[in-house]
Amino acid sequence: MNLLQNQKLNNKKAIIRVDLNVPLNEKKEVTDYTRIEAIKETVNFVIDNGGSCILLSHLGRPKGKDENLSLKNILGPVSKTLDKPVIFFPDCIGEEAEQATKKLQQGEIILMENLRFYKEETGGDKLFAEKLSRLGDLYINDAFGTCHREHASTAVIAKYFPKDKYVGKLLQKELEAISQIADQGEKPVLAILGGAKVSSKLNILYNLIKKVDKIIIGGGMAYTFIAAQGGKIGESLIEDDLIENAKEILEIAKTLNKEIILPDDIKASTDFNQNDLIKIFDSNKIGSGWMGLDIGPKTIEKFNQLILSSKTIFWNGPVGVFEKEAFLEGTRSICNSLKEAKTLGVNVIVGGGDSIAALKKLGKEDWVSYISTGGGALLESLEGKTLPGVKALLNEN
Ligand code: AMP
Repeated sequence: MNLLQNQKLNNKKAIIRVDLNVPLNEKKEVTDYTRIEAIKETVNFVIDNGGSCILLSHLGRPKGKDENLSLKNILGPVSKTLDKPVIFFPDCIGEEAEQATKKLQQGEIILMENLRFYKEETGGDKLFAEKLSRLGDLYINDAFGTCHREHASTAVIAKYFPKDKYVGKLLQKELEAISQIADQGEKPVLAILGGAKVSSKLNILYNLIKKVDKIIIGGGMAYTFIAAQGGKIGESLIEDDLIENAKEILEIAKTLNKEIILPDDIKASTDFNQNDLIKIFDSNKIGSGWMGLDIGPKTIEKFNQLILSSKTIFWNGPVGVFEKEAFLEGTRSICNSLKEAKTLGVNVIVGGGDSIAALKKLGKEDWVSYISTGGGALLESLEGKTLPGVKALLNEN
């Protein structure tokens, strides 16, 4: 794959597929700038090396043209974040669009209209991709968050630039983070998986158990595993149809000499309502009528030790119902331990919506080694798949 390194772009026009699918409130104001911040490095690289930028992105899930989802709505925030003027063009294909990009001067940036105003984008239409390719001289994919989709601007357009297709700076960082988790990270590598359901992370578990040294399973996911080992889990969350898979994963871990670590004690309640009774149980002896909603004090200590004795850590998913103060303690302690580990030189990678939400809630996100910007794209990568948008950038394709 071609990385952006020392290329001199000599007034070349770079088509950059970015992910500007930012959250907007009802006044169409951007409520989180993370994704805009994330495009800065590639845009600056292109400009510093003498090129100009043609930004392609989607926003939301429009069915045809929809002014509410026009990228014009975010022109101001994009320009402000990049600290550079940005031109807007109200279409992303066609003769006039091509004229507009042809006129771009070195150092200029143009933001094209929402790709998904055309159904051909999500349909992966070749003709549409070819029309997009006419906008510039080279193609850079920097939209990790959509690389798992076989869309025209991610998986198809690259073939029109067999020699001039590049991995953007953000995409490069995401791929490096994934490879540190699943291949090349300094050992021992620990994955901490939490969240509500085993089902959404089943394929990740099957893949990561082969790749990492240890997996902590917390949150609602843990109870299916505890039940698979014969534990009594009261009214805690369980996916009965996955008990056999849980047994199989535990068996694979044993065969490969890997460790799966489950909570020893848990904090339970009779209700999600935090005013209800709260009690600590051994995780395999939860009373009937009680549901485990957070990890208990012994487990907090044990997880802390595991975190501090690892060299690379990937965290995805809260270990309790972190939205409620009464069940936030476990997730808070994970954050604190990770932060301490980071100061000791441990590589800490965080990904997946709810872990980031938890970090933000606890006001602790700036110290992390790397926070992934991808949801589905990250999860599919950790399942061991090569994403279509990444595959398209391989030189043999
Ligand atoms: P996910 O989207 O799969 O990462 O799941 C995140 C959700 O899992 C959060 O809303 C948490 O409240 C929830 N969760 C974490 N631990 C538990 C638990 N022990 N029981 C039920 N839900 C949980």
